[in-house]
Amino acid sequence: MTDCIFCKIAIKEIPSDIIYEDENMIAFKDVNPMAPVHVLIIPKIHMESMDHVTKKDSVLLGELLYKIKEIASLLGLENGYRVVNNCGEDGLQTVKHLHFHLLGKRKMQWPPG
Ligand code: AMP
Repeated sequence: MTDCIFCKIAIKEIPSDIIYEDENMIAFKDVNPMAPVHVLIIPKIHMESMDHVTKKDSVLLGELLYKIKEIASLLGLENGYRVVNNCGEDGLQTVKHLHFHLLGKRKMQWPPG
């Protein structure tokens, strides 16, 4: 999508601090980190949100979730971490391209705000 900031990151039109990349996904540091480790993992193809995912996306999203585990290991999050997806208005999603936050290296709180 031409006006999507994360699509632009995926094609390197906008620079980012890339942690991991393959043909289907890219992981990069969040510009406004909420934890010592805060990485965003996105599919390269544009999907607006979890609510826009279809059955045909399930293999890609399964791979993406599995890769989050590997990225967590790569980043030394052996003591645990949190994976967050904000969806839609009530979920406070601000960037309308599906993404998972990977947060670590601090003790999280529950419930989230
Ligand atoms: P959400 O509120 O779940 O939609 O999260 C969007 C996230 O994208 C926020 O944590 C922002 O800090 C982050 N973000 C926005 N623009 C950029 C960017 N250009 N590079 C890295 N992270 C970004």
